[in-house]
Amino acid sequence: ETIGANLERSVARYGEREALVDVASGRRWTYAQLNEVVDRVALGLMARGVAAGDRVGIWAPNCAEWVITQYATAKIGAILVNVNPAYRTHELEFVVQQSGMSLLISAESHKTSDYREMVGAIGFADVVFIGSPQWAELAAFDGDPADLAGRAATLAFDDPINIQYTSGTTGFPKGATLSHHNILNNGYFVGELIGYTHEDRVCLPVPLYHCFGMVMGSLGAISHGACIVLPAPGFDPAATLAAVAAERVTSLYGVPTMFIAELGLPDFGSYDLSSLRTGIMAGSPCPVEVMKRVVAEMHMTEVAICYGMTETSPVSTMTRVDDSLARRTETVGRVMPHLESKVVDPASGLVMPRGEPGELCTRGYSVMLGYWGQPEATAEAIDRGRWMHTGDLATMDDDGYVNIVGRIKDLVIRGGENVYPREVEEFLYTHPDITDVQVIGVPDAKYGEELMAWVVMRAGAQPLTAAAVQEFCAGRLAHYKVPRYVHVVDGFPMTVTGKVRKVEMREEAIGILD
Ligand code: ATP
Ligand code: MG
Repeated sequence: ETIGANLERSVARYGEREALVDVASGRRWTYAQLNEVVDRVALGLMARGVAAGDRVGIWAPNCAEWVITQYATAKIGAILVNVNPAYRTHELEFVVQQSGMSLLISAESHKTSDYREMVGAIGFADVVFIGSPQWAELAAFDGDPADLAGRAATLAFDDPINIQYTSGTTGFPKGATLSHHNILNNGYFVGELIGYTHEDRVCLPVPLYHCFGMVMGSLGAISHGACIVLPAPGFDPAATLAAVAAERVTSLYGVPTMFIAELGLPDFGSYDLSSLRTGIMAGSPCPVEVMKRVVAEMHMTEVAICYGMTETSPVSTMTRVDDSLARRTETVGRVMPHLESKVVDPASGLVMPRGEPGELCTRGYSVMLGYWGQPEATAEAIDRGRWMHTGDLATMDDDGYVNIVGRIKDLVIRGGENVYPREVEEFLYTHPDITDVQVIGVPDAKYGEELMAWVVMRAGAQPLTAAAVQEFCAGRLAHYKVPRYVHVVDGFPMTVTGKVRKVEMREEAIGILD
């Protein structure tokens, strides 16, 4: 099924129910209303000459128009290119050229002089600013529905429909090319396992530009008749909890740092979160302590952890509501329906014994078509057996529960011993004065690498010294896992998707130590 056909199915079943709420602007759409504006924009884009397979970019923080553009492009078979809203002209230029974009839908706020210069420099001019008269023209376009039906008849479920750039946590972002089949099924199954119905209201403080918002959020909700609630254009913890209360949200998404920020609000106790039932934590390692607080203090008793990557549409493993609480907080669950997972020795490719760490690989319907315009990178990531190599180290127990021990690139080898920073981070989270912590390896003449912990202190707590941290670890953590250096910070370098950029931390750390 195509994404357009799936939307129409939900419209037929849930037409008068609410589909989308843009809290910041106070606007709301039922399924029937959403479909109507989607069709107008779709026909308007066709009238502008957008053909199936053309790349249409969207460069905007979360707003209703993002969702409208998502479905309008899907209906006409245009390939939506998600552009990171934090990008500035230099990075935009890269994406425009790399994807061969022919039209860009942009937030009004991006209309700056830099931007005009770039447009001049690369000769790319076909831009529609959201909120401008051209957008209004699209949203009101009065075309012939037969044209849209005609276009729909030419589309296939396995056509490419989306280029999503990876977060750029470990290097330069790569454009994962995804089909209707890839992302629609993944979003549908995420919703299915969480148990979405048309009664659910799904709050998305996570960026729509990323698969977390666009697939697990938008497609996950729409394919089950649920309502999407957009709390604010960018992440704002107070606005998020206010939207949960005001919109009687049942499901809240976030990367771990978002939940940490929400739980840390000084007036956290004043928000009515009683409507919450479930939600998803995903995107980076989910600290057990944070998961426990989300369950206990945010009413999210059924909250799930998902693990995945842009290249696999994204979710490949997920916890289930009926898993034990321990498994729902300490593992990333089991493989999703219709997908396969295995853990292999990165050197030999042989499957590891259960319980032993190796590289996690994923196979099945959700694996991307490839990296846009990068056949060599694609061949490196997807092997001849069609397994996607994730670059993540994981263990799998006898019952199939997966634990992510860290990225291969973040593994620290200290004096010949493998140290998984994640394990040390989990331990340090139990320190009463530490609210957030990241551990990295820094070069060391004697041991090859040494551990450095970056810690965020609880408000009012004394900054911790390395000696104090070492004392806290003594006798409870193997000596080679005890951080040699401690760096007290207010936060970490992050991607827009809320991932900690350890690459940048390592560079900064080397500067500090020199
Ligand atoms: P890039 O590939 O550009 O370096 P990225 O890998 O962060 O960036 P994404 O595709 O957004 O880009 O993120 C996928 C990665 O996020 C996974 O490979 C994994 O390392 C991490 N991740 C996602 N979910 C989880 C989770 N639940 N627990 C631990 N890590 C996770
Ligand atoms: Mg990646």
